[in-house]
Amino acid sequence: MDIKSVQEGVKSPFIENIEEYVVVFLDIDNIRYINDTFGHSIGDKFLSMFGNRLSQIVGEEGIVFKYNDGEFVILFHKNEKELIDKKIQFILNESNKVFKEEDYEILSTASIGVYTPNSNDKIDDIIKKAYIAMYQGKTEGKGNYKHFTNSIEEKIKRKTLLTKELTKSIERNYEGLYLIYQPIYNVVEKKIDEAEALMRWKNQELGEISPAEFIPIAEEMGLIRKLGYWLIKKVLRQIKEWNKEGLNLKIAINISPQQVAEKDFLKKIKETIHEEDIDFRQIKLEITETQILKLDEQRFKDLTELINLGVDIALDDFGEGYSSIKSLVFSPITEVKIDKIFIDYIHQDEKIQKLISSIIYTVHGLGYKVIAEGVEYKEQFDKLLEYGCDKIQGYYIERPIDEKKIVEFIKGFHNTHYAI
Ligand code: C2E
Ligand code: CA
Ligand code: CA
Repeated sequence: MDIKSVQEGVKSPFIENIEEYVVVFLDIDNIRYINDTFGHSIGDKFLSMFGNRLSQIVGEEGIVFKYNDGEFVILFHKNEKELIDKKIQFILNESNKVFKEEDYEILSTASIGVYTPNSNDKIDDIIKKAYIAMYQGKTEGKGNYKHFTNSIEEKIKRKTLLTKELTKSIERNYEGLYLIYQPIYNVVEKKIDEAEALMRWKNQELGEISPAEFIPIAEEMGLIRKLGYWLIKKVLRQIKEWNKEGLNLKIAINISPQQVAEKDFLKKIKETIHEEDIDFRQIKLEITETQILKLDEQRFKDLTELINLGVDIALDDFGEGYSSIKSLVFSPITEVKIDKIFIDYIHQDEKIQKLISSIIYTVHGLGYKVIAEGVEYKEQFDKLLEYGCDKIQGYYIERPIDEKKIVEFIKGFHNTHYAI
């Protein structure tokens, strides 16, 4: 869904003295699922029932309009904010219920956005603002309500702009997109034999945009698959180039949820590595813990097959989210990447020291390697060595650098027997 559907939406309600109202935009989160699962005739009945119920709840205190399919606009007479908030919360609770229709039980949830208009606001803008608040709330988690603020509007504008520019870049043969590589120190071998590929984007007008900003947008807007394939090809070609220079690095590639979820993704990766004639042992895929727990049996099999061919699978950002023992025990992985949030305190906090040393012990017991990321200081590095961490990545070793600099860096590093 995009903002356009509101701008070009069906008839907007015409109301005089709009400033006397608070505008609420309600969107049924799973309307498409309901139509697809139960059929449109049941879907329509559900919607009309939903609308009636909404009108009953709102009663004399406002007016309910049907907007696009599964969308309603409610105008509440202005009142104390608390009272309106209470009413909206009630609507939300009532929307998140089981509806019975014929023999079917339909569980719905709704997201709501709220905007309080000024007298000079135009009706379309008003609805758009309520919609924007709803949309922002939805991206943070369905079944919620949110009031419109200017910062939400700014966020959405920026997102729309970045989506447009990123699409343009991709169309223009990935213009402005490039990769840099962060060296990874192998503690056992005392050398640098790996690096993580990190995507960068320099847009002509907007300048350098952080991956922490554009990757989530690319994921949400369905652009990540294309970017992902481009990146893999680019990495494989780069590995070939380095191999020719006698530098046999293993490269870690970040994989987004939509990529692994794609049916043929892992098969395609396998084929591409094969086509480019690269040793599977030169490839590592980094998948986050939250992501890996969502994969089905077939994906687990595919990952296991890749592991058997020699590919490393790292559990990225370990400990950052809801860590689960399940992900450690049952997932097809070869290493665990401890998140920077722990490394940040490892030289200062005794509890974190105990935690990390036992994580390293446990992970080794399960037969996997341990890598630490975000290591910035010697004190952190020393602690990790003391606990038997296998690999270290972070500014203490080196920042992410381009494909030429990394060759020089590694040569220099090995020649000077770095004071490690
Ligand atoms: P990540 O996978 O956890 O990558 C590590 C991030 O930490 C990188 O930020 C890296 O530059 C930064 N970093 C490394 N060492 C240090 C350190 O010692 N101190 C500090 N403060 N930071 C350090 P970056 O490159 O900005 O990437 C951010 C996130 O964007 C990545 O987190 C990853 O989730 C995503 N990302 C980047 N490139 C790609 C990509 O090609 N594909 C996908 N799917 N995601 C990517
Ligand atoms: Ca990573
Ligand atoms: Ca990470």
